[in-house]
Amino acid sequence: GSDFLRLSAAPDLPMPAESVEVLLPVALDRSFTYSLPEDIIAPPGSFVEVPLGPRAVAGVVWGPGDPEVPAGKLKAVRQKLELPPLGDELRAFVDWVARYTLAPRGMVLRIAVRGARNPGDETPRSAVIATGSAPGRATPARTRVLATASDGVPRSKSDLARAAAVSPGVIDGLVADGALRIVEVIAEPIGSGLQPDLGRPELSEAQADIAALLQAAVRDRTGSTHLVEGVTGSGKTEVYLEAVAEALRTGRQALILLPEIALTQAVLDRVTRRFGGAPGEWHSTVSAKRRARIWTGTASGETRIVVGARSALFLPFRDLGIIVVDEEHDAGFKQEDVPVYHARDMAVVRGKLAEAPVVLVSATPSLESRVNADAGRYRHHLLPERFGGRTMPEIELLDLRADPPPPGRWIAPRLEEQVRDTLARGEQALLFLNRRGFAPLTLCRACGHRFACPNCSAWLVEHRFRRQLACHHCGHHEPVPPACPKCSTTDKLAAVGPGVERIRDEAAALFPEARLAVLSSDLVIGADSIRAELKAVEDHAVDLVIGTQLVTKGHNFPHLTLVGVVDGDLGLGTSDPRAAERTFQLLEQVTGRAGRGAIAGRGIVQTTDPLHPVMQALKNHDAAAFYAAEIDARADAMLPPFGRLASLVVSAPVRNDAEAYARALAQSFPASAPARLLGPAEAPISLLRGRHRFRLLLRADRTVDVPGLIRAWLAEAPRAPASIGLHTDVDPVSF
Ligand code: ADP
Ligand code: ZN
Repeated sequence: GSDFLRLSAAPDLPMPAESVEVLLPVALDRSFTYSLPEDIIAPPGSFVEVPLGPRAVAGVVWGPGDPEVPAGKLKAVRQKLELPPLGDELRAFVDWVARYTLAPRGMVLRIAVRGARNPGDETPRSAVIATGSAPGRATPARTRVLATASDGVPRSKSDLARAAAVSPGVIDGLVADGALRIVEVIAEPIGSGLQPDLGRPELSEAQADIAALLQAAVRDRTGSTHLVEGVTGSGKTEVYLEAVAEALRTGRQALILLPEIALTQAVLDRVTRRFGGAPGEWHSTVSAKRRARIWTGTASGETRIVVGARSALFLPFRDLGIIVVDEEHDAGFKQEDVPVYHARDMAVVRGKLAEAPVVLVSATPSLESRVNADAGRYRHHLLPERFGGRTMPEIELLDLRADPPPPGRWIAPRLEEQVRDTLARGEQALLFLNRRGFAPLTLCRACGHRFACPNCSAWLVEHRFRRQLACHHCGHHEPVPPACPKCSTTDKLAAVGPGVERIRDEAAALFPEARLAVLSSDLVIGADSIRAELKAVEDHAVDLVIGTQLVTKGHNFPHLTLVGVVDGDLGLGTSDPRAAERTFQLLEQVTGRAGRGAIAGRGIVQTTDPLHPVMQALKNHDAAAFYAAEIDARADAMLPPFGRLASLVVSAPVRNDAEAYARALAQSFPASAPARLLGPAEAPISLLRGRHRFRLLLRADRTVDVPGLIRAWLAEAPRAPASIGLHTDVDPVSF
């Protein structure tokens, strides 16, 4: 009948069409009303193609159209797209995140639709499996391949090569030998066919108690939040995998969030061993096609487990049963670009919406989570001891004032001696310095000129491997010049202070026999090379590791027995109220790498202030006392989590413009607002990427709706000139 009506309607009469509100994944907060042709049925959540100016864009139906917009003015939805709809829960989450972070809703939607593409039909692909017969020749590389392939998961040649950290040629050799066979498989949905009870370990009593509580939380669907705290190696991962198993058993899905890509391989391997299949892996370097498969797989419910970076929180899970946030204290969960959000906090929100428990996991929980646990908002579960009777590393504080390194060197004699002994015993050692490059400052000894970034208020860091001076804020780099650009003197440029590359040179001179590896994010680029390097350390193909914070988390290095911290005080010298907490977390994590294998481990921390509370907490393994003091200090100062903070950074190419607008904003702050506004003051990095920055800090009581307050204030504030940028950060992690 509708065709007849359409034909008989006079062309100048508006059609009584239904209209829908469509949100577009673009940098806009507002949605648009479109009319809906009668032959299209598009309930909320549907993907539709709509005209936007001259373009056609894909958007999501967010609700019924705005009845105030006259029908004659409406443009029509062009077509409905063949994609699973975005569910109510995820749409509510997008709205919530946008409201809380003050980001345009379209920018949040953009994350949620990043894999929304039809992956197309799967053609059969070839995969490699183990035949069970022994190869003619056994090399370490071949043994690794067979060990990896023996789990029965069919992997493509390149996936297997990557998982075992060998070249594809090794696999060809094993196929020729008959130890591996190539088969044709139709790809199953990623992360499907997992078995909850396949690789179930015998849990210790402490583990079993916590696992039972978490499993009950999966079943009760109250969306409760849990903090699992236990020293490195205490078996936290095994515990949360039991809770994940319960989600699988009850037909639901699981999400495991990690702060950085470097950690994913270890967790992927463990999940694969535990449940007999690989989970979906979600982060920035996953191919578009794989993303599309995971996106549709999570929407259909076939992808049962996803291991991913923070953006995995926006996947369209059909029935999410648990969210795990591993290394929950890690600053990598904070996204600094719009939308500026903290994945740990947003996970708690998504868990509530999904009626799924959220399990925060750490050896060194954030102060926020501790306070929430103390206040009873989160349930606190403790695993105080290492699994299997392993002991925590003994920590020695090496007082640099009493035992200084020789001039121009950074490894004190006592640390040198300990590294030498460790290597002589055939064990592995790690020297840790959380600073990339060769030297943090270069100056001319003739005229005093210091090399600074032209775009930022920062010194240029020398990277000797790359022969460059580089800015760690904006990426600016230039070749190391032969002479001083100011006074033209040659041979007087001096590198001041150490970075990991310099420690590497020092170590190479001290221990010429040792096989060295430098693990620093600018030297080891991409998930594959990180994997290969970590594998080499794990397999003891390296004697002495020199690393930045890339090595601190999650990895299991069974041969590592000594960790030397080159500069324990680095990071304590700032005015950031979180400096002590962060330094403690970093040093506890890095020293916790030692002694996870059969032999007990040791940590040596070089410091000029052995009595500092951070150093004492490390030495005495007394996190509780340290945190108690920190919590008191935060409470006294009404700092988060006792009070609330937001930072607004105003930037502009011209310093006066930025300052003037920051002042105007401050003046427009309503006197009656239940908050205090501090500033404007120059931001901690006052020039960044060529823009001058001024910061306003807003402080309020815990109970104040800070995003709501900021929104109301900005709506009435003077409009920003075009050159002005405004970056709002609710709950900043550094301030
Ligand atoms: P964490 O996550 O706290 O660092 P893990 O879960 O990685 O600790 O456990 C540390 C080590 O102990 C790992 O090698 C792990 O396989 C082993 N382990 C932990 N729990 C068990 C268990 N119940 N049975 C066997 N091995 C275990
Ligand atoms: Zn710069």
